[in-house]
Amino acid sequence: MVDTLDKAARSRNMSRIRGKNTKPELIVRKFLHSRGVRFRLHGKALCGKPDIILRKYRAVIFVHGCFWHRHENCRLAYTPNSRIDFWAKKFEMNQERDKRVHSTLKKDGWRVLTIWECALRSKDIELHLSEAYHWIISTIPEKVIEDIGLGYDKRLPRSNVDDIHNSEGV
Ligand SMILES: [Zn+2]
Repeated sequence: MVDTLDKAARSRNMSRIRGKNTKPELIVRKFLHSRGVRFRLHGKALCGKPDIILRKYRAVIFVHGCFWHRHENCRLAYTPNSRIDFWAKKFEMNQERDKRVHSTLKKDGWRVLTIWECALRSKDIELHLSEAYHWIISTIPEKVIEDIGLGYDKRLPRSNVDDIHNSEGV
């Protein structure tokens, strides 16, 4: 069966997700670095292999792609219009795993931050990153950072990453 998420669209989507300079996770890592926050990546020993681990703050960060992790009411989480059963099953599995991982980590005493991709593609990206920083240094058990309905810039100019650094005087 042919997937109507055609090649061009798919590769656009992939480059949005995996693009070297636009990779959402990389933006978060660069930001943390600029704030002098030390972290580790992809903790294999931890449930769900969180993207970023901050042991000192007993915190983990997941940078979730809105499409794969099905960010509710988000324009990036569109539903493909073919192979509906295939996608529905895949999405359901992803969501169930996320829930399971989340509750296991919390049970083990980790604080959990979820940053949705849309927040990092938003015009308010600096605000969202600053929210993330304030959560890290807090004792709040969990937080979700998202950008539903706010200024959305799908181009995410490469200079965004540098701008953040510059504004931090780094
Ligand atoms: Zn989203």
